[in-house]
Formats: sequence, structure tokens, C-alpha cells
Amino acid sequence: MASESTPTAGDTASERGEAPESALETARHQLNEAASLIDVDGNIVERLNYPAAVHEVTIPLERDDGSVEMYRGYRAQHDSVRGPYKGGLRFHPDVSREECIGLAMWMTWKCAVMDIPFGGAKGGVVVDPKDLSEAETERLTRRFANEMRSVIGPMTDIPAPDMGTGAQTMAWIMDAYSVQEAETTPGVVTGKPPVIGGSKGREEAPGRSVAIISREALNYYDYASEDTTVAVQGFGSVGANAARLLDDRGATVVAVSDVNGAAYDPDGLDTHEIPSHEEQPEAVTRHADETISNEAVLELDVDLLVPAAVGNVITEDNAADIRADLIVEGANGPTTFAADSILDDRGIPVIPDILANAGGVTVSYFEWLQDINRRAWSRERVNEELETEMTAAWEAVRREVEAHDASWRDGAYVVALSRIAEAHESRGLWP
Ligand code: GLU
Repeated sequence: MASESTPTAGDTASERGEAPESALETARHQLNEAASLIDVDGNIVERLNYPAAVHEVTIPLERDDGSVEMYRGYRAQHDSVRGPYKGGLRFHPDVSREECIGLAMWMTWKCAVMDIPFGGAKGGVVVDPKDLSEAETERLTRRFANEMRSVIGPMTDIPAPDMGTGAQTMAWIMDAYSVQEAETTPGVVTGKPPVIGGSKGREEAPGRSVAIISREALNYYDYASEDTTVAVQGFGSVGANAARLLDDRGATVVAVSDVNGAAYDPDGLDTHEIPSHEEQPEAVTRHADETISNEAVLELDVDLLVPAAVGNVITEDNAADIRADLIVEGANGPTTFAADSILDDRGIPVIPDILANAGGVTVSYFEWLQDINRRAWSRERVNEELETEMTAAWEAVRREVEAHDASWRDGAYVVALSRIAEAHESRGLWP
């Protein structure tokens, strides 16, 4: 039958003028694909397609000039069958209700892949933090914490840093919550400064886990670390820590990038010489002899590509141009569902975010345990336990990949979904 759509429409979503795949669409596609691989109750999968709750607030902020502006904030709580909701808060102009739900779903799987007793949540404020002074950011954060006070708590929902937030943001939330509750409550958030109950090693944990999982994946595919070339998109907490750890282990890091572009050296960059976003924002290209564009980083002919900047960067528009042998996801959701299947057809393995960057939430769990016990762990203990948890999760996923001849993403989803479904079956549906 003749279609009424434009006959000249192209093959890809952007050529067809369609909106890019949302985090929620990607998360739902991934869930339903993984569910088809295992014997899981369809009613449980149906439940997991939806969040348990999405809280939305408006936050009045008094700007430094005395004017008042209204900001929108969200907290999506996806599933708590295995424990309290857990996940980051982002301050970013692209935050939306849908995005928070998709990201909350990924947190549910991430905690289950790691076998830590948390469910999934994500939230944020629609704001560009670059537009706010430090005093404005503090007022916005404290007021947001207060608006969310009834839905967060150390046994109910525990926020953490994400894009545009960090240890200081968590300190303000912890303080606002504690003052209102009239009780110092460090366990209400993780990713705090160690001096108020934060964990040593939390800041570098997501990057450390990316490096651990990269090492396992490179071993699996018979690459020697010393001969490996690596490109990293994003030089924030995840990208910079991953790049430096891989560099320290002998890999040749040929490119690292931030929003302005990439530093590039085919003989290898000194990743410790280039300031991370936290050390000096957006300074990567100022410390480079040769620069290339951010898009070009993704298409470099390297052994390992680590997209560690933002979501939706590997899409059906560029998946055919990727020349890396292996991709390890540092950011949440860098690869769309459509791109995943192109990469799969091309035989390029993608090690998913819910495994690779799960070191963040794993050390958040260690932090929460330390807060409950009022006892701090040494950095050595944190790093040792993280190594143990990451290699155990890698092995669990590898077994499913081999058993189902599945992609790494499907393997990770099978591990997560089996654990979550078993918990739902055991608890049942109330009433
Ligand atoms: N925002 C981080 C993530 O996406 C950490 C979440 C947490 O520690 O709760 O995994």
C-alpha cells in the first residue's frame, strides 16, 4: 500500500527528521529483548516497563540579583523489590521526566547485575549549572532536597552524584535533610565528601570499574594491555579516571575529549598531564598539540573505545563508521538500541554501562554500609572489595553471554532480570 510519508525519506531517524531515541525507549527495547531470551513471567516484565512513581516539583530560586526563577525537578523511582531506590541526581538542561524514568530503569538493572541490595531511581533538575553562581546552586540544591524530603531517606531512596552534581551537592542535601529531620543522617545520600561520611575511592569508582571491565574484556578477546590503543570520549570523573588507570596499566591512550574537542596523539597522550573536568573545566584541547573533533574520536581506528561523556552518541547515523574493535560504555546510555544492532551485526562487542560503570553505585553501597556502621573503610579495602565485586559481576555476565550466545548487553540484562524476577516471584503482588 502506498505510504503517505515523504517518498524521499532517508534510512536513519535523523534523515527521516525523527526525534532521537529517548533513554526510556532504549531502556524498554533492551528490557523486552532480554526478556525474550529467558523464561521470565510476562507479568513481571510488564511491571518492569513502568516506574513505581515519578515525583515532580517546582523549585523557586532567588537569584543573586533578587529575582525569583522557577525550576523543575524530578525523582523517578523505578523498582524497589531488592532494596531501597538508588541512583544519581543530575543538573542538566536536558533532564526530563522520560529521561529520568529510563535512567532509573538502568539503575535497577545495574544494582541487580552487581547483586547489591538496592532498586533503581534517578532524578534531576532542569538547569544548566554553568548559569548559576555557587551560592545560587547551593540554594537550589537545598530547596530541591527539602521538596524531596518525604520521598528520599536512608532506607527508602538514596540519591548520589551524576552529571552536573558532585560531592558538594551531596553535602548540601545531607545537611538540608539532617537539619529538617533534627538528626545527622549521612546515609540519605552517597558520594559525599569523606569528612562527613563519604567513602574513600567513591569519586574515582565509576572510572575504576570501567578500567577493570576493560581489562577483563581485553583479556577475553586476547589483547595484551601494553599493545592496546584506546580512545576516550569525555574527560570528567568517569572518562579521566578510566583513561588514567588504563594508561597506568600500559595502554596507549591516543585521544581524550571534552565538549570542545579532543587531544589526539597516535603515540599516546600523558593522561595525567591533561586536566580532568573537575580539575579544570573544558581545558582538554588547551593541553594538546593536535586536536580532533568529538565525533572523530568515536570513529578512530583503535582497539578500545570508551564513550564516557553523555548518552545517545553512538546512533544509527554513525554506528557503521565505528572502527574500534571493542566498546566499553562509561556514560549511561551512550549507544542507542538501533546502533547496538548495527554494531552486533558488524561483530563489534559492546560491554554495557550497567556493568562497566557500576563501580559508582557499588562504592555508593560501601559508603551506605559505612554510614550505617559509623565506621570508615580504608581506600585499599574499598578498592579491593570493588575489584572483587566487579570481577564476580563480569563472570556472571560472561556465563550468560556464552550460555545464550548473546551480546554483552543481553547477557548483563539476563543476569539482572533473573535476579529481579526471582525477587518479584518470591514477594508476590500485593494485594
Ligand atoms: N550516578 C551514578 C550512576 O549512574 C551513581 C549512582 C549511585 O551511586 O547511586 O551509576
